[in-house]
Amino acid sequence: MSEENKSSLDSLTALCKRRGFIYHSSEIYGGMPGFWDYGPLGCELKANVKQAWWQFTVRGREDVAGLDATIIMHPKIWKASGHLDTFADPMTMCKECKKLMRADQIADILAEQKKKPVAHNPEGTLSCPYCGGEMTEPKPFNLMFKTVVGPIDDPSNIAYLRPETAQAIFAQFQNVTATSRMSVPYGIAQMGKSFRNEVTPRNYTFRSREFEQMELEFFIRPDEAVEILHGHVVTLADNPDLDGPVQDDWGWEVWHKYWVEQRKKFLNAVGLPTDRFVEYWQKPDELAHYARACVDIEYDFPFGRQELEGIAARSDFDLSQHQKWSGESQMVFDDPLKQAAKKMDDGAKKAFIAKVQAEWSSRGKDPEAAEKFCLALFDGKYIPHVIEPSAGVDRLMLALLCEAYEEQKLVDDKGKDDVRTVLHFNPKVAPVKVAVFPLIKKDPDQDRIARDVFKNLQKKVNCVWDVSGAIGRRYRRQDEAGTPWCITVDAQTVQDGTFTVRERDSMEQKRMSYAEFLAMMYEALEF
Ligand code: ATP
Repeated sequence: MSEENKSSLDSLTALCKRRGFIYHSSEIYGGMPGFWDYGPLGCELKANVKQAWWQFTVRGREDVAGLDATIIMHPKIWKASGHLDTFADPMTMCKECKKLMRADQIADILAEQKKKPVAHNPEGTLSCPYCGGEMTEPKPFNLMFKTVVGPIDDPSNIAYLRPETAQAIFAQFQNVTATSRMSVPYGIAQMGKSFRNEVTPRNYTFRSREFEQMELEFFIRPDEAVEILHGHVVTLADNPDLDGPVQDDWGWEVWHKYWVEQRKKFLNAVGLPTDRFVEYWQKPDELAHYARACVDIEYDFPFGRQELEGIAARSDFDLSQHQKWSGESQMVFDDPLKQAAKKMDDGAKKAFIAKVQAEWSSRGKDPEAAEKFCLALFDGKYIPHVIEPSAGVDRLMLALLCEAYEEQKLVDDKGKDDVRTVLHFNPKVAPVKVAVFPLIKKDPDQDRIARDVFKNLQKKVNCVWDVSGAIGRRYRRQDEAGTPWCITVDAQTVQDGTFTVRERDSMEQKRMSYAEFLAMMYEALEF
């Protein structure tokens, strides 16, 4: 981290503490690494980020349903998903200073501390970035937190705090499909807490041990089903219009790119300009064995460019695994597919099976399984494939805070240099939308009208009331909280009902009526 970036992160952290965005968890007992609490402004920001995601992903669409599942679930879920066996980081310990760290993060820690001298290890093995001591051989360390369900502390009662929200979606796929009256292609979304016993929680809230995720599993037909239905499969080479309505003949590749674009639109809408993040397309050797593609959206945090969220094309891996481990079918019945297959004669079906077998063989998959798969398709049955946009609430909040934070150099009315600390939040996520002030608090008319305005606005959005100090100081307090508008009731309000609205970013003041203000505010808050 450059000195400049470090100091901007330090200033942001200080502001977040001072203004009640983020505190160390259990601070009076010395805190807990990797655990953070959100204060009065932080919890409003968080609620707005989650609400924006829900609006954009669920309510604003016709093809996504919601879910709110438990944090502790049947432990077999984690066996089926692979988390019990493979959800591990390589952990290593310094033999000298006994510090624990992730072996794959030593290079990052060294880069961050490039000014600190690190003693050279003569054997050329891993050296501790803190004292130069020799490190132990890296060992896999499972990141899931264990707990015991029920009164008997026995291995048979071990359960886990979920390390992601996604698996509950797969486990409830059949229930949601049956009750939501939706059919593939459609999605299930969930937001909520996840827990990972991260070896080295770092970079403020970026890598925490308790955090929240916002995940969507968007289920699609396998390309082979699209082929039967439409006689073709649209790929990216066909240049599909990803801004228009979704299309039934899209293949997985198009759906994946569509969701990458949707996620970028969402990030834009909540306040991250497009030029502040990049798409990182994972290389074939970086992909999980079941994944067909994975894009990380990376943001330039003050501590470097890091993953903000990911969008993965996970094939039918998860539902297939749950079918295998639970013994419950995870197939769907797709009537239009069955009807389309009925129109194929035996020759066409044979040719189709041969084509799928050849394609599967080229990917090292079993041709016999390909035939079984095709026969099920002719009956209108398959296990859906899935596109997974997966985002972290806390990571997005951190990016929004970093993006919004500015120490603005100004010259005041008397020509003196001044610094204004401001959080330029998009109004949609700003913790407080409006602050209301009577210009002169002792003026009973101003006080009464301002209170009326405040009470009315309070029924609609989060507002604050402030009467203490000069008006300029009141504005500055709101700038630090990121409040987009301040309403000041003055002598003219008593005459004609208009008040001044001071806009946070431009600092311009405009006179308007209550109705004009509401119209402007609603427009800015709408998705
Ligand atoms: P990383 O490589 O940073 O550990 P990951 O690839 O394991 O992340 P996923 O499992 O894909 O992350 O999780 C999806 C999203 O959940 C991430 O993009 C991030 O926004 C969020 N997330 C994951 N782990 C954490 C964490 N420890 N603290 C905060 N947010 C997290």
